[in-house]
Amino acid sequence: MKRFNKIILPLFMLLVFEAVAVTLWLTKNNIFYLFNFSYIGVSLSLGIFLVMGRYRYARRVVQLLVGLYMLVFLGIIRRENMQIEGFWYYLFTGVFEAATIHYAVAKIFGPLIFGRGWCGYACWTAMVLDFLPYKVPAGPEKKKLRPVRYFTFALSLVFVAALFLSGAGNIERIIFWAFIAGNVIYYASGIILAFACKDNRAFCKYICPVTVFLKPMSYFSLFRIKCDKEKCVSCGKCKKVCPMGVDVTDNSRKRKNATECILCMECVKNCPKDAL
Ligand code: SF4
Ligand code: SF4
Ligand code: SF4
Repeated sequence: MKRFNKIILPLFMLLVFEAVAVTLWLTKNNIFYLFNFSYIGVSLSLGIFLVMGRYRYARRVVQLLVGLYMLVFLGIIRRENMQIEGFWYYLFTGVFEAATIHYAVAKIFGPLIFGRGWCGYACWTAMVLDFLPYKVPAGPEKKKLRPVRYFTFALSLVFVAALFLSGAGNIERIIFWAFIAGNVIYYASGIILAFACKDNRAFCKYICPVTVFLKPMSYFSLFRIKCDKEKCVSCGKCKKVCPMGVDVTDNSRKRKNATECILCMECVKNCPKDAL
């Protein structure tokens, strides 16, 4: 990360989002895309700028700016289901809009560039979970729970497929209510799990179906936290503050929990030797 100074990285992010915004605006002839991706791009760039300037609440500010926009404005007011069932729905209807574009940018191809930045800065589920008390896990990892994500992933697909196969009427309306119900379930299970596992991000680690896309794609991420071995004194502070259990001093892509990194920068902020 050190290669990019405080201005270049936010600018790069802004340019990527502006490129998406303008391309979609012109190709789809819909100015909403210009507004939508410009807003998200500006919010994320501002967040990265503030994070790199070590402003304490930078990530919270961006989580609220993007998370509330997507949950309240896009999800509830515009009735666009941005959850995984919305993605399946638009995919089945063959419409490259709303959730399909969102997934392509934030969760499928975007992670090749910015890893799981979505999870650290934009997800409206984590926006709430990150306010809970266990910012750093206080309990052991529950490895046996990890496969649950494949079950929830399959469940979301089967649910939408069943709607189409059964010929259910007004699927669009059902998908909207699935968004509301899905969020209630996500928040409730996320909060219960956080307290049960003493880990705010337990839902992300074990249940979230989106990680089935995010994890393999972020393995190849262009942006990663790397350790300068010349400076590192092996104090272990970085690992102690990591909410995702990443072995960040190992520079290999196969390091422990490599694809769990949400680019929250806690390790970078806490390294006494500026080695990350
Ligand atoms: S893992 Fe899922 S719930 Fe957690 S931040 Fe990422 S997308 Fe959101
Ligand atoms: S906090 Fe910094 S110095 Fe300490 S182990 Fe991590 S990278 Fe090395
Ligand atoms: S603390 Fe560092 S390694 Fe852990 S998730 Fe945050 S950025 Fe990634």
